[in-house]
Amino acid sequence: MARTADELFQHFKEVQYTDKWVEIDDVRYYVVEADLLLNEDQLWDYALQRAALEAAGATAVPEEMQGLVGIRNAQNRVVRWRAGKVLTYAIFKDSFLPTQYPQVVTAMQQATGDWEAVCGVDFEHLAHLDAGGPGVSSEAPLFWVRGVNTGGQVIAAAFFPNDPPSERRVIIDPIFFSPNLSFSPEGVLRHELGHVLGFRHEHIRSGAPPDCPGENLSYTFELTPYDPTSVMHYLCGQKGNLALTITAVDRAGAIAVYGPPNSAFDFHE
Ligand SMILES: [Zn+2]
Repeated sequence: MARTADELFQHFKEVQYTDKWVEIDDVRYYVVEADLLLNEDQLWDYALQRAALEAAGATAVPEEMQGLVGIRNAQNRVVRWRAGKVLTYAIFKDSFLPTQYPQVVTAMQQATGDWEAVCGVDFEHLAHLDAGGPGVSSEAPLFWVRGVNTGGQVIAAAFFPNDPPSERRVIIDPIFFSPNLSFSPEGVLRHELGHVLGFRHEHIRSGAPPDCPGENLSYTFELTPYDPTSVMHYLCGQKGNLALTITAVDRAGAIAVYGPPNSAFDFHE
């Protein structure tokens, strides 16, 4: 029996995500699909999408939906950043311990450079904003990278290009810095930046092992064949890779959306 959006919304708030939330600047965000943060409005939209899926009886993942997973909007257009847009970020220095901040700077440099090397995107670290933090300067980056203690609910979390500007942030939990972290830290950021570029989780497709966590697949589409070692794949069903490297299949999917890396071109004004 399909549930209404109201019922799902209540279920999310009172059962499924009742103890899975974090507070950032006095706003509560529900931790959905392991590394996505949704405020109440976004959780309501999520409930609406899920209700529509249940009403359509579409609980199973369609067979043809496999591969690096992109996002489409309601008009069936591919969600991505505008061509030529520089994806600027700043790192909220005071939200990290003094020893952690330089690690984040280095890991972000590596992770952004790795995406720039495979497809036509351009990130820029506005380091002069780091010491001030969000809202201090009139100059704002596209997104902030900030430390948030989620109690280990996530290692890090990100956003999608079609999220509202106020929700554009990459958060990093203290466990990111643990010597016991089994994932590569820069790999975790490669994964999060994959979301920032508009890619969903790889393990949600029908080609993925059934014991991997499922997710709402509305407004998604396949870019490549299923890739068990994709940077967007969790460790589940004996698949995934701890290094979270961008694979050749990921590269093909990213190029399908963003084109070849800018370094491949001789640009003229
Ligand atoms: Zn993720």
